[in-house]
Amino acid sequence: MYNNVGKQIKDLASIITIIEAVASVITGIIVACVDFEDMWWIGAIIIAGGLLVAWLSNLILYAYGELVDKTSLIESYLNTNQTNKSSSFQNKTAGPNEWKCSKCGVVNQNYVGTCGCGHTKSSN
Ligand SMILES: [Zn+2]
Repeated sequence: MYNNVGKQIKDLASIITIIEAVASVITGIIVACVDFEDMWWIGAIIIAGGLLVAWLSNLILYAYGELVDKTSLIESYLNTNQTNKSSSFQNKTAGPNEWKCSKCGVVNQNYVGTCGCGHTKSSN
């Protein structure tokens, strides 16, 4: 459930936008109907302003939801990467064209001069 917090924020953004847009249109129509002679433009301003505020708040909330989504995606990617390294790479023995890093135990190809951990091949 916590993993979907970004999606929930984006859903919330859409709901808030719809509520704000509908509320501003209704308010605008009511104001316009009270005195149709010379007050109708105030209703129009309320509708336009309300829609602008709805759009802006939606944009900010959606961007925030997107940010949370991407952050958790990066986090889960890093976690998977870390697990793969320790489970498959470190238990592997170096083949004919490979060398095993003495510092972290990762098996690298011979053409790789420096291990991912910063340890160099020559000092191996
Ligand atoms: Zn290493």
